[in-house]
Amino acid sequence: MTYGLISDIHANLEALEAVLTELRGVDVFLCMGDIVGYGADPGPCLERVRALPRLICVAGNHDLAAVDKYDLHWFNPFARAAIQWTAQQLSSEQKSYLGDLPPIAHADGAVIVHGSLPDEMDYITAPDEARLCFDAMPGDLAFIGHTHVTEYYRTRRGSRFPEQVALWSGGAIELKDGIRYIVNAGAVGQPRDGNPAASFGVWRVEARVIEIKRVAYDIEGAQAKMKAAGLPEYLIERLAIGR
Ligand code: ZN
Repeated sequence: MTYGLISDIHANLEALEAVLTELRGVDVFLCMGDIVGYGADPGPCLERVRALPRLICVAGNHDLAAVDKYDLHWFNPFARAAIQWTAQQLSSEQKSYLGDLPPIAHADGAVIVHGSLPDEMDYITAPDEARLCFDAMPGDLAFIGHTHVTEYYRTRRGSRFPEQVALWSGGAIELKDGIRYIVNAGAVGQPRDGNPAASFGVWRVEARVIEIKRVAYDIEGAQAKMKAAGLPEYLIERLAIGR
């Protein structure tokens, strides 16, 4: 069994297509949320993701905010402007799909959530925050998104001191007995770890390995569409530097 790991697509169709090309042939897609928000193609990205033959997808904060199910005061002015624009681009049927996405899902013993546990919209950026999630995890493996930083946390069962491991250029995680993992496969559509290439992963269950990969995409094409849509300049510029 192979799972394609995608998260934080953020309405970037150019990045999404590049990643889906790399993920051809996986059995099931796991999406850790934020299909929309920031980018110029919320509707087309949503249609592309929901049409994947086998998909397990949880809600992100931008997905919910775009359908009035998450308070806009949590967002900075640039994100808020993009969410308000996004809401105007989606049909009511598309909105109800986003609004019905579950907060948590499960696959092969792994838990899938946008940000963390027990609060799905918390951020994990450091070992202390990872510890809260490890304490609340039912099993030994969690897939998250939300920070747009490609990395993972690991800890021995019973230990209180998780270790943080950067994977900004990609790499493989070999899953070992007695070790617990929180894996952030990074952002497809708006990386913030200094690497502008789209980030994604493949989980090979029987081989007990998670591969994290980066793929270049047409950043200028995505930026041109955002400019034409009148989205904030700051959001356009950050795609090129991956911040
Ligand atoms: Zn996001």
